[in-house]
Amino acid sequence: MNDGQLVKRGFLTITSFLFNSCLWLPVCLGVILSPCKAAEWQAGVASVVITPDTELWQVGYSTRKKPAAGKLHDLHAKALALQDPQGTRLVIVTTDLVGIVRSLRDSLLVELAKRRLEVPPEGLLLNASHTHGGPLYWVGDEMIYIHYGELSAPVKKTIQDYTAKLQENLLAVVSQAIENLAPAELVYGKGHADFAMNRRLLTRKGFRNAPNPDGPVDHDVPVLHVKPLKGEWRAVLFGYACHNTAVGGQSYLFNGDYAGFAQAYLEEQHPGLTAMFLNGCSGDQNPQPHGPVAAAKRHGEALGKAVETVLAGEGRQLSGTLGLALEDVSLALVPPPSRQSLERQTRSGNPRSRRRAEVLLEELTQNGRLRTTYPYPVQVIGFGNDLTLVAMGSEPVVGYGLRIKKELAGQAVWVAGYSNEASCYVPTAKVLAEGGYEGRANMYNTIFPGPWAPSIEERIIEKIHHLVNEVRGVPEKPHKD
Ligand SMILES: [Zn+2]
Repeated sequence: MNDGQLVKRGFLTITSFLFNSCLWLPVCLGVILSPCKAAEWQAGVASVVITPDTELWQVGYSTRKKPAAGKLHDLHAKALALQDPQGTRLVIVTTDLVGIVRSLRDSLLVELAKRRLEVPPEGLLLNASHTHGGPLYWVGDEMIYIHYGELSAPVKKTIQDYTAKLQENLLAVVSQAIENLAPAELVYGKGHADFAMNRRLLTRKGFRNAPNPDGPVDHDVPVLHVKPLKGEWRAVLFGYACHNTAVGGQSYLFNGDYAGFAQAYLEEQHPGLTAMFLNGCSGDQNPQPHGPVAAAKRHGEALGKAVETVLAGEGRQLSGTLGLALEDVSLALVPPPSRQSLERQTRSGNPRSRRRAEVLLEELTQNGRLRTTYPYPVQVIGFGNDLTLVAMGSEPVVGYGLRIKKELAGQAVWVAGYSNEASCYVPTAKVLAEGGYEGRANMYNTIFPGPWAPSIEERIIEKIHHLVNEVRGVPEKPHKD
């Protein structure tokens, strides 16, 4: 299968050169009375409330018994538009949602194109905070059926109405951020917070979902500070690799969990600041302690304070131009189950397993076969030679973030998960071989017919290196076939 490819590197056009470069003397002489400034970055930010105003199910825990109503605090979608000195545009959207499905991203790109807002697919990063206190929106017929069964017409309508409103809100917030573009400077720095703990504990019965103080963690808090050259507004984009699940499944009030509290803390402490959270490779990381709400608030403030420490420091001013790349990498699944095996599963005592088997049987009947590969999106954003941001889809475990940062040492590297799509956990080869929830068990809650093949990690890492080389302008080594 061919991997779809969308790559754009900032390049110097004749017109952008004329308008942006002070080396072209006659242009400068024409405006000699105003001092000749270096080419500038532009930035704009906007925020919109996406809290449901009706009863709606929350997503993340299968133990919930009823829809949520009311809120601990508002949920938001926030957009940061950036434009480099050559006019290349990037929009980063953060959301207090459990995940981003492709249909949400695709419809946003279509609507932006209709409005001629010039956001290329590789220039849109849509991230979910993975809050388990956020609302259910329409994540695809099969996924809705597997998790919720046949819904009544009124419930279906409520979810679809919320989804339509969410799409409108995303379009509005991105449009507003682009409209707000104004000269700004970008400063990168890194802080530290230590409430994330590995949650894969080896027991006599295999790997359990329980705190493991000896397991790998990533306690970095990468921070991008956006400061306008004029005006009072500011934006801060910050990341952390930890499941956004400190509130727990007992609350029936919408909430953004610790990441929602961190954003609220920063915005309260710094009037005029828009705070945006980008979740990292946190598939196997949990906040400790877990629940109740007070723990989420405490973790949020700890993360907010880690960001404040970076804001108060020097940081590294970003220069250069944007390099943007987005590709799907084709990941293999193990050979799919037989029709007989799926038919057996339709008689399972577990309703979710039963419904999943029905969905897979339908796919088998319709297509004559079950899928054996999946196109998995990887995005790389280069800020000149100063910072590389790698954004992976779904729920990568922490081993990816740690490995990528190690292998790309030399520049500042930021690795995000939960970006551009949500489908399943993304284990490393080690976690896959070990099994447990993130390695195998959770795949049986998805539309995938089986666990990943062992090649998963090398396929993803190879693709990331390829895209990083594209973005940094490094020539590829010839393949030895
Ligand atoms: Zn998760």
